[in-house]
This record gives sequence, C-alpha cells and structure tokens, in this order.
Amino acid sequence: MILRFQRGTTVRTMQSVRARIESEGLRVFESPETQRPILAIVDKTPPALFKELEARPDVENVAVPKASWRLIAPEYRDSQTRIRLGKVEIGPDTVIVIAGPCSVEGTDTMDEVARKVAKSGAQLLRGGAFKPRTSPYAFQGFGVEGLRQLKDAGEKFELPVVTEIMDASDVGAFLNHDIDCFQIGARNMQNFRLLKAVARAGKAVLLKRGLAATVEEWLYAAEYLAAGGCRDIILCERGIRTFETATRNTLDLTVLPLLREMTHLPVIVDPSHAAGLARLVAPLSRASIAVGAQGVAVEVHPTPSQARSDGPQALLPHELTSLVADARIQAAISGRRLA
Ligand code: PEP
Ligand code: MN
Repeated sequence: MILRFQRGTTVRTMQSVRARIESEGLRVFESPETQRPILAIVDKTPPALFKELEARPDVENVAVPKASWRLIAPEYRDSQTRIRLGKVEIGPDTVIVIAGPCSVEGTDTMDEVARKVAKSGAQLLRGGAFKPRTSPYAFQGFGVEGLRQLKDAGEKFELPVVTEIMDASDVGAFLNHDIDCFQIGARNMQNFRLLKAVARAGKAVLLKRGLAATVEEWLYAAEYLAAGGCRDIILCERGIRTFETATRNTLDLTVLPLLREMTHLPVIVDPSHAAGLARLVAPLSRASIAVGAQGVAVEVHPTPSQARSDGPQALLPHELTSLVADARIQAAISGRRLA
C-alpha cells in the first residue's frame, strides 16, 4: 500500500508512522517527493494495520496499485520524475534525443560522430563498448577502452554519455569512467543481479524493454532498480519480438499512453533497434514523440555500410540533423521543449 500524507505533515510524524509499520515487520520505503511525505509498504499489510493507517487524520489517502510494484507507481510521487544529466533535463516538459553509433569503433570515428551529434542539437551521446551480439564471432566491442573513447568524445563536445553494461563486475569501470547513464539492454532486462548491482551504483539508468517482455515484467525490472536505491530510471521501448519479420522487431507504441497511467518514470523510444532499417527511423521517431515519448534514442554512423554493428539501421549525420529539427517542432507543438 502507498500512504499519502496531507501536505504539511511533519517529517517527525511520518517517521513515527514508519516506525509503527516497521514494528509489524513490514518493509517501508520513503518517497523523495518534496510536496508531502509518502510511504510505500512493499509487504502485504495486515487488514487491521491497513484500517488503522487509513483512519489517521494526517493521511490524505491510501493507494493500492494493482500489481505489487510500488516505488515506480504514479501514487508514489506527486508529479512525474525529472532527471538531470549535466545540463539535460529529462521529464514531462522536455524531449531528448540520444544519438551515436551502435558500437564505439575507435577514437577518430567516435570524435567525428560526437561532433555531429552535438552539432545536430541532440542532447546525449550513445555508443556501445560491451556489445551483446547474437554470434560469438561478431564484434564484441572494445570493452573498457570503449568506455574511455566514448567518455572522451562526450567531454570534448559536452555531451553526457549513455552506454550498455552487461555484467555486474563492470560497475567499477563504469564509475571510474564517469559514465553518466548506465544502459541495461533488452537481453539483460531480467538479469536481476545486474539490476541490483547497477541500482547500487547510484547513476541514472536507461532500462530497455526485453525482447519479449510484457509491460508488467518490464515494470517489475524497473521496480528492482528503484528498490535497490535508483531514482533516475528511464524506460526505453525498443520493439518486441512478434510473428512479423519485415522489420527487426515490432515497435509497440501502445505502451506510451499506457505507461503514463502506470508509472511516474519517463519513457523514451529506440526506433533504430525496433525497425532495423534506417529509412523507418525518422517517421517512427515522429510517431513516438507524438504519442508522448519523452525522447528517442537513435543510431548514427558516418558510413553505415562500414559500421561494425547495426549498419542497416544507422542514420547518416545529416539525417540526424533533420530528425532533431523535427523533434524540436514536435516538442513545441505539445508544449514541451528540446532538453
Ligand atoms: C543497443 O542499444 O546497443 C542495443 C543492443 O539495444 P537493445 O538492447 O535494445 O537490443
Ligand atoms: Mn545497435
């Protein structure tokens, strides 16, 4: 259950209620909400205690979200989550564009792409250093050296960086390289030990939807992060596996208005991995923003035919520039701004 106190309730009162709940052996989390104290009880609340808490005059209302996620439920906050990465704000008022190559491929290419990403007006730089490849013989990424190249390029062009972490043992390297946002890829969405380890790192996390994950499974994965102490979680729809083979995956735009009802977390879309075809990326980006996405993540490469991974879905730099221009217009139409 989620206990929402009246505005103006003191921290002291909230803490005494918290102690009362904990005396029954239940686990309680405290919302970072500043407007009022909000507590989430994550264990089943005995009926007598439920009644007692509901009847308190300082409790405005209690909510019981349908599923057993709590910390990502809309009732746990008074407004949608806002996340800051350097100067970039991700949240209800903004639209972001994350862009970069699928893989970090070397200093020269990385710097060239980063310059173009910055020039296009996109806000964040992506690039994979640890690559989850279907074939063990495909390019696996430069590993820690890739983190360095990505971060260096990000610093040169003042772009916070996002990159995928595949193993809990790499958290230290990610922190040492000051990676701004840790990506949990589709293939690891339910790697619970990784989720717990990444949550402890205290960094923002981009949580991609699993290849065949239901919305419920995806939200539980986000709840793992939240329960582990992570506040800055961005959900990313990247297409799901269906019977359709004309595109790499099937982009599920239904989740955008749906998730607005189910969570206070920001949601973005990765049309590159959904479609697998560069020419579909711009129209799908426009559709995503129109239906409420708080941003898009796209792949870009100076010479897609030579990319070491995912070339067919990579935009050319000038295509990225027009995608960002479109995103700016769409943000304005919906009363938002480019972050
Ligand atoms: C990626 O973003 O580089 C990636 C591998 O994406 P996904 O996990 O969505 O397949
Ligand atoms: Mn890719």
